[in-house]
Amino acid sequence: METAVKWCNEILPKDKPRHLLGIGEPEDLFMGVENGVDLFDCVAPTRNGRGGTLYTTRGKINIRNAEYREDTGPIDADCTCPVCQPATSTHYSRAYLCHLYRAHEMLGGTLGSIHNLYFIINLVKKMREAILDNHFEEFKNDFLARYLS
Ligand SMILES: [Zn+2]
Repeated sequence: METAVKWCNEILPKDKPRHLLGIGEPEDLFMGVENGVDLFDCVAPTRNGRGGTLYTTRGKINIRNAEYREDTGPIDADCTCPVCQPATSTHYSRAYLCHLYRAHEMLGGTLGSIHNLYFIINLVKKMREAILDNHFEEFKNDFLARYLS
């Protein structure tokens, strides 16, 4: 995929935005950005969110797993989305989310999707800032070292 994206972006007009449809996993977003992609859209954050697979800075988790049944922490302590924020009345614990998914309550998929969309949008925002601050490679390496560990 990386070779195909690189090849396509070498022949596309330099003054036009480059859109990559269907790519939405964090490690793939880095690959796209490194190869000149400007825009992404993908069902992955909401499809994963509906199924209980949630992004964290330490990789994806399946919130339905038994290990989260009594976990009172947020999905990701480093996340600033409304679902994860302990400072607001909307904080939802991993335990509560685990219950919602196991009980097939639609609220679980809704909250998981909100978190996943925020996570991906925030990640791309941080990539943009890292490019402007001229430390994209360092940001990528730091993020992926945690995310893929
Ligand atoms: Zn969150």
